[in-house]
Amino acid sequence: MREQDLTHEPAAEQLLDRTWHVLGVGSLGVLWACRLARAGVPVHLLLRDAARLQAYLQAGGLSLTEGAQTHVHLLPATSVAGDGPITRLLLACKAYDAQAAIASVATRLVPGAEVILLQNGMGSQQAVARMLPHARCIYASTTEGAYRAGDFQAVFAGQGLTWLGDADPSRNQAPTALLADLVRAGIAHQWTDAIESRLWRKLALNCAINPLTVLHGCRNGALADHPDEVAALCAELARLLRACGQADAADGLHEEVLRVIQATAANYSSMYQDVDQGRRTEVDYLLGYACAAALDRHCEVPGLQTLQARLIKALHKP
Ligand code: NAP
Repeated sequence: MREQDLTHEPAAEQLLDRTWHVLGVGSLGVLWACRLARAGVPVHLLLRDAARLQAYLQAGGLSLTEGAQTHVHLLPATSVAGDGPITRLLLACKAYDAQAAIASVATRLVPGAEVILLQNGMGSQQAVARMLPHARCIYASTTEGAYRAGDFQAVFAGQGLTWLGDADPSRNQAPTALLADLVRAGIAHQWTDAIESRLWRKLALNCAINPLTVLHGCRNGALADHPDEVAALCAELARLLRACGQADAADGLHEEVLRVIQATAANYSSMYQDVDQGRRTEVDYLLGYACAAALDRHCEVPGLQTLQARLIKALHKP
């Protein structure tokens, strides 16, 4: 059994504060904050600076659209420069912003604070967990979808499920108070002891689909016209997953990629949308992470490396 470090347990009065601080008030941050708040869960937004706080106040709150219904929620907010203690934090920024964002509030986290990391891909969560040795980091992998209709406005575009699991796999007890809030808020979720496996599997699905949609300039469904390319990538990704000790995540990968291509045929992948709208992509935490892991394990992945080189060239095209 793991030894408990009592000096890092939160004080009883700190545990009483059930407020969810939300850092990263974009698509997913708005989606989570609004659902929690309307269920009566205390939520406090953390904006990056005074200018963003002012913009939020001018917007008159957060707006969440679900189907034909739009509701506005004026939630308490401060900039990250505030100084109150934080016991529960939802980090909902992009993977490439995660470390800088967490650094701006790290000293406010009480020992034992729960920090949920919603980032896609891999690498950023582990880096954040290393920065917070006295917090309880919880990794999340979600199939929910939301997009920004404007500043502080989100549209809930796809129902799904959020898998949650402890960054420290030796800790197998689910945080019940936190999950109870998700139940109250109607956020579909499942606790898992195998969150790494979920993250790897999602990373592999993303690596097999997203870069090809950018390179071919197409919707997900059009990848059905490139079956050999998809099959070869899936074979390499499955080999890499096994080399990384993730055999479960490798099983049936190709079949699932084909299912996703078919089920989301009309959609543009998130990477395609980022490129199309001139936004930075999370490629370093997807294909970049996969290629680095392959190098580490001396696992040959020529197809993934070529894909990465083609993608980098395409992304840096003037
Ligand atoms: P997003 O709409 O771009 O929102 C990110 C937010 O983070 C922005 O509001 C940004 O603030 C904020 N932020 C960044 N750095 C910050 C800092 N230092 N301090 C305070 N705020 C900061 O991103 P998203 O779509 O919600 O995605 C978040 C993560 O979830 C990504 O890793 C994404 O891949 C993953 N994910 C998203 C979806 C989805 O459907 N959206 C689905 C699955 C997974 P500003 O507004 O001030 O720039």
